[in-house]
Amino acid sequence: MEVLIIGAGIGGLTLALMLHRAGIPCRVFEAAAEIKPLGVGINLLPHAMKELAGLGLEDTLASRGVLTAEAVFFNRFGQLIYREPLGRAAGYAWPQISIHRGDLQAALVEAFIQRLGKDRLMLGWECVSVASEEGAAVAHFRDPIAKRELPAQRGIAAIGSDGIHSAIRRQLYPDEGGPIYSGVNMWRGVTRWPPILSGASMIRAGWFAHAKIVLYPIRHDVDAEGRQLVNWVVEIATPRYEGWNWSRPATLDDFIAPMTDWHFDWLDVPEFLRRSDLMLEYPMVDKDPLPRWSFGRVTLLGDAAHPMYPRGSNGAGQAILDARALADCLATSSDAVAALAAYDERRRDATARVVRANRAAPPDAILGEVYRRTGDKPFASIDDVISREELAAITEAYKRVAGYEKQKLSGED
Ligand SMILES: Cc1cc2nc3c(=O)[nH]c(=O)nc-3n(C[C@H](O)[C@H](O)[C@H](O)COP(=O)(O)OP(=O)(O)OC[C@H]3O[C@@H](n4cnc5c(N)ncnc54)[C@H](O)[C@@H]3O)c2cc1C
Repeated sequence: MEVLIIGAGIGGLTLALMLHRAGIPCRVFEAAAEIKPLGVGINLLPHAMKELAGLGLEDTLASRGVLTAEAVFFNRFGQLIYREPLGRAAGYAWPQISIHRGDLQAALVEAFIQRLGKDRLMLGWECVSVASEEGAAVAHFRDPIAKRELPAQRGIAAIGSDGIHSAIRRQLYPDEGGPIYSGVNMWRGVTRWPPILSGASMIRAGWFAHAKIVLYPIRHDVDAEGRQLVNWVVEIATPRYEGWNWSRPATLDDFIAPMTDWHFDWLDVPEFLRRSDLMLEYPMVDKDPLPRWSFGRVTLLGDAAHPMYPRGSNGAGQAILDARALADCLATSSDAVAALAAYDERRRDATARVVRANRAAPPDAILGEVYRRTGDKPFASIDDVISREELAAITEAYKRVAGYEKQKLSGED
């Protein structure tokens, strides 16, 4: 019997590739009738790239995305606060890759079809419930377009990798409620623009109380002028938001007001935003860590298990680390129930720490600290405000929690 994977997102597809490598049969059931290039930018930090490189995907991803080389932090007056190298430029054995979510998902789907075969990817299969029975997991499905029931499927385990709106999580925790709003709303999009700073810089500027922008390129040479596709996210503290839908359209007037005078020597922000190809709204949400993921032959993985704020570029990465842990547990135990319990043990607390760190002290906490110490005023010299050691300590602490400390990562198999 095979493993039933619910959801063909980043986590579900990575798990399928890892199970296949371990010689464990599986099938992926996806609610969408077609895999479309949805979303905008996503980051793969060195810990996730180590796993994807192990699946032979580094060259493909590097050719479609951008090898991000530095993180650069500014205040809302465009003054430089801190700069640090990332990925290979920081001495990691694996790169940090910033990429369009659609390009990442397409690379995973291509590898899946090549290695496992098209007939193992079931599109238009929406899972409505799962059950852990004696000797088998049973998953029930419906066709979301025709609205009719599909045949139930049996496997050795059912994995809920069905994202932040997970039906499996709702079944396991029916009283939990929806995602929790952080108090910060986000507007996201992509703009074709000449390379900014190094052309491989992840830039963060400003702070939520006024407005913060995050930008990084996700595709090179998108036109004859050598422009890049640059992902941007504007984050503003506000009680107003419109619910959590990854594809909700937005307009510039919804969020531009606090940034109309952000004309920096490294970027004219209002002009950059005005030229965006698309604008989407999505509130910054997460959920409280769960007391348990695995129930007999059923478990959760990725955003279904631990949705987190996107402040540490770790959503996709933690789903990929879950996939590696679960594939290892299933490969080393002949008892699926014990394997799922071991996976729960290995990953639940680790990811809960990342969820909490993203709330309290992700890398952009640097910006909050400078905002508070300067009273949101320009500074004469950053050294009068905060030392380089203090700034470095904030990002180093986050790397430890999220699991991509350089030394530790190099030492793991
Ligand atoms: C449409 C969309 C756009 C996104 N855009 C971004 C972005 O721009 N930037 C970013 O950082 N993150 C984005 N994310 C989230 C990001 O992909 C995840 O945070 C992360 O990669 C973890 O992946 P995951 O596999 O756990 O979940 P996801 O990648 O969200 O995948 C979940 C999958 O499960 C499917 N699914 C849901 N319910 C069912 C069901 N009942 N039965 C079967 N299948 C089901 C979904 O259609 C989806 O394909 C997006 C997610 C989605 C779904």
